[in-house]
Amino acid sequence: MNIKEKILDGQRINFDEALSLYDMDFFELGELADSVRQKMHGKKTYFNINRHINPTNVCADICKFCAYSANRKNPNPYTMKHEEIMDIVKDVESRGAKEVHIVSAHNPDTGLEWYLEIFKKIKNQYPNLHVKALTAAEVDFLARHYDKTYDEIIDLMVENGVDSMPGGGAEIFDEKVRDYICKGKVTSEQWLDIHQKWHERGKKSNVTMLFGHVESRENRIDHMMRIRDLQDKTGGFNAFIPLVYQTENNYLNVKEAITANEILKTMAISRIVLDNLPNLKAYWVTSTVNLALVAQEFGANDLDGTIEKESINSAAGAASANGVNLEEFVGLIKNSGFTPVERDSVYNEIKVW
Ligand code: SF4
Repeated sequence: MNIKEKILDGQRINFDEALSLYDMDFFELGELADSVRQKMHGKKTYFNINRHINPTNVCADICKFCAYSANRKNPNPYTMKHEEIMDIVKDVESRGAKEVHIVSAHNPDTGLEWYLEIFKKIKNQYPNLHVKALTAAEVDFLARHYDKTYDEIIDLMVENGVDSMPGGGAEIFDEKVRDYICKGKVTSEQWLDIHQKWHERGKKSNVTMLFGHVESRENRIDHMMRIRDLQDKTGGFNAFIPLVYQTENNYLNVKEAITANEILKTMAISRIVLDNLPNLKAYWVTSTVNLALVAQEFGANDLDGTIEKESINSAAGAASANGVNLEEFVGLIKNSGFTPVERDSVYNEIKVW
């Protein structure tokens, strides 16, 4: 059986086979990924109505790829008061948002309570609003800075109303690349350990991969394989989210942006490799809306959401960071031949548009 037959037959592929997919004809690869997508989701494309909130950019870490944290390239530190955050939540909830997605830099000056209490406030006031918050990198930072174990921080998250964890901070799991791009931040092993602990509490999370910088194709496949291994154990990941590296305002000095061809190939391969992970998200903030729409034909079945406002990738040059109007978003999905399905944060269907 050749690799194409294996994939069509629903069999799992290994590292070398996954790597060889990069050499396959571009459209043939897209069709293969699309056949996997269609078996799982047909023509449905999921999205949700959400708002990203990034409460502080003051950071104790110094990731080279980052343009968001307050430093020489972004000398405008801010830390939001809880009242400001609650005003935003009130506004977006009244306009139909079902989820707030809260991630921050690693601010050493706020105290642990500042991070946790806001979740409780949101949950008390808006019990039906899904709180997706704290990446594994933030969990690791809080544990180190406030002398807690991962289990203690995770229990505090649950107690204070966090419903699910975002997939940020995974970057690239290969230790050498990781050391180069974000030395000192949560290690790959720790990142996976934190998500395993979260899943063991019956909770769901997502997982990202930052690509298009200094990593190799082998590093990307290795990243996917480590995710697949953990997913075999826990089944706790909802979505894989490849994030396209943004080239501006950071210290990584990558001169050439990754091509659309390489982005779509990587998305297609991830759809095929991650045979145990239900959703592949084309995060349009880092790839542009147009490319995310094309990615639907390369395995992606989720376009995240209307987002409204996002500060982290826009700081690094992402062009489309201020959200899209709901009707326009739905129209774009329909016009590209797919069925827009509004979902909640854990992929229950709310409405077929
Ligand atoms: S990526 Fe996150 S942890 Fe790293 S410097 Fe930026 S804000 Fe800090």
